[in-house]
Amino acid sequence: GALPEDATIQGVVDRAYRDHKALRDGANADYIPALARVNPDTFGIVLVTADGRVFSAGDTDTEVSIQSISKVFTMALVIQQSGPDAIFNNMGVDATGQPFNSITAIEQYHGGEMNALVNPGAIAATSMVAGEDGAAVWANILDYYSTFAGRELSVLDDIYRSEAATNQRNQSLAMLMHAYGHIDGDPLEATDIYTRQCSVGVNTRDLAMMAATLANGGRNPLTGKTLVDAGHIPEILAVMATAGLYDDAGKWLYRTGLPAKSGVGGGLIAVSPGKFGIAVISPPLDKAGNSVRGQRAIADISGALGGNPYATR
Ligand code: GLU
Repeated sequence: GALPEDATIQGVVDRAYRDHKALRDGANADYIPALARVNPDTFGIVLVTADGRVFSAGDTDTEVSIQSISKVFTMALVIQQSGPDAIFNNMGVDATGQPFNSITAIEQYHGGEMNALVNPGAIAATSMVAGEDGAAVWANILDYYSTFAGRELSVLDDIYRSEAATNQRNQSLAMLMHAYGHIDGDPLEATDIYTRQCSVGVNTRDLAMMAATLANGGRNPLTGKTLVDAGHIPEILAVMATAGLYDDAGKWLYRTGLPAKSGVGGGLIAVSPGKFGIAVISPPLDKAGNSVRGQRAIADISGALGGNPYATR
């Protein structure tokens, strides 16, 4: 069915904010030292319909680092530049059954059967972005994210420095992906660009615009700019459905039906195709690494608005 009228949508968003504002479960990620210092009370919800109406509650302006949500948009860039087979053939499109930073997931199939939303596959995807040199690749990535959000984004420098100083594990994942032939060129440069992309600052409104662009067939509903051919949206959403919420991707899909992606910075985006994109920022995470309030708020809002794409009535 169609979405309800504007006042109803705003009421649903306001109610989810009120219902979950007092929730204090979960904790900030702390394996990247700077993430532990982020304010855990930040809580914002923004829903943008595929036709560009914006509904929000709470703190929509505070920026956090985009972290793993970036992986969706780098994957989209690779698919747009090189076609869906590039992703399918290089790192694959299957769930790993392993944590997002697992070395075992590489060893299982020598890096060929995972996906672009776990770290080794994501760093490989970053290495596939077109550009003459590292600086050009980075410029392409940042520009692409910015066009999705509809404003110029930039790196949160304290987050970047903190992660760059402590990302030896990601460096080793990249070295192994290089050894198995999934990363051409310098794996440590790919890791550095990946670390930068994870440190991009976004607010709840930015994330919702990015999600709404996917919901709207790859076209930003406010600026009208096309970022991905509509024909590629199902492939992007399929990988999000498979692997968007770490080890709880199946539980999330079972409850909501929504392709989604979380990040350890506390952001969560979800897409109801043709209807809306939604984002929440709330840094405390559950054990699987997903925003506690983010999951609750989005599940409630989508449930109330009929957002589940698998529902037949
Ligand atoms: N930059 C983080 C890492 O590589 C992203 C993790 C995440 O959000 O899942 O560990």
